[in-house]
Amino acid sequence: MNPHTKIEIQDVWEAKKRMQTMIKPTPLIASPKLSDKINASVYLKLENLHEIGSFKVRGASNKIVSLTEEEKSHGVTTFSTGNHGLAVAYIAKRLGIRAVICISNRVPVGKVNAIQQIGAEVERVGDSQDDAEERCYQLEKEQGLTVIKPFDDPHIIAGQGTMGLEIIEEVPRIDTVIVPLSGGGLFSGVALALKSYNPSIQLIGVSMENAAVMSESLKADRPVILPEQNTLADSLLGGIGLNNQYTFPLVKEYLDDLILLTEEEIATGMGFMLNQHKLVVEGAAATGVAAILSGKLKTHGKHVATIITGNNIDLTAFTSIFQKQLYKSSRQ
Ligand SMILES: *Cc1c(COP(=O)(O)O)cnc(C)c1O
Repeated sequence: MNPHTKIEIQDVWEAKKRMQTMIKPTPLIASPKLSDKINASVYLKLENLHEIGSFKVRGASNKIVSLTEEEKSHGVTTFSTGNHGLAVAYIAKRLGIRAVICISNRVPVGKVNAIQQIGAEVERVGDSQDDAEERCYQLEKEQGLTVIKPFDDPHIIAGQGTMGLEIIEEVPRIDTVIVPLSGGGLFSGVALALKSYNPSIQLIGVSMENAAVMSESLKADRPVILPEQNTLADSLLGGIGLNNQYTFPLVKEYLDDLILLTEEEIATGMGFMLNQHKLVVEGAAATGVAAILSGKLKTHGKHVATIITGNNIDLTAFTSIFQKQLYKSSRQ
């Protein structure tokens, strides 16, 4: 890693301070059922309870607040239509900064409406994510907007890392943390916070079997591209960037184990969250719980936490998944 761009624990503390007025700490609750299952204390970090339903507000706020006044006056842009896009729109709105979210014409109108409702401008371009991304960099050149990357950025990573500080504060003896893993901004930040505090804390990543880009990139020892497949954990889709600078090296350094889940296992995790905790969460957010329920979590300590990363799921989709779960459990 370039020594000049190394991210350190101080950056996470600075992020915490910078974000203080924007982001409230989220609850960490015990899960008695999961605790019984693996004979350890299991905790759930409820990042689904942020106002816009995901932890992505942490990174987005740390990044956008850090911009210079000059940069802020020109506005920000991004091409994510998922939780990152919502987070950028939301934080920009709160700070009174212009936000332009570039979205391909293939993206369903529901997602476009959600972003517009927050108050961001939407620019519809082309037919692919790549077209939308290209437009962002064009806006940067032409109008001076700052592109807010979804994960491969030191401020984003440090912002996500602040939830690691909150976990330590609540459970100082924490020894195992299971983290949903896609581009790795979340994993890198949380791992940095926890490993700086106690290097023996186990950091376990979890993704879906369908198109686990980080997993394949680690095997190849360089970022690879995979075709996207349908998955319940849609927030974990997407590449890690062929020119990845930060999250790939950090994940490589800190990952102790990586668990890959089937769609069935993810659905079971979602059903568990509603049944046991009365929480509607999206597929990506249920992967940590699913890793425990599946029996695939082989090594862990006595104090285990997993991050419930978000709740952005269409209720119709959720209901049909949950009904299948109910049917399955009634037959057992
Ligand atoms: C973005 C996201 C993740 C994964 O975060 P990365 O930093 O890309 O690894 C997990 N869960 C949800 C709900 C997300 O929106």
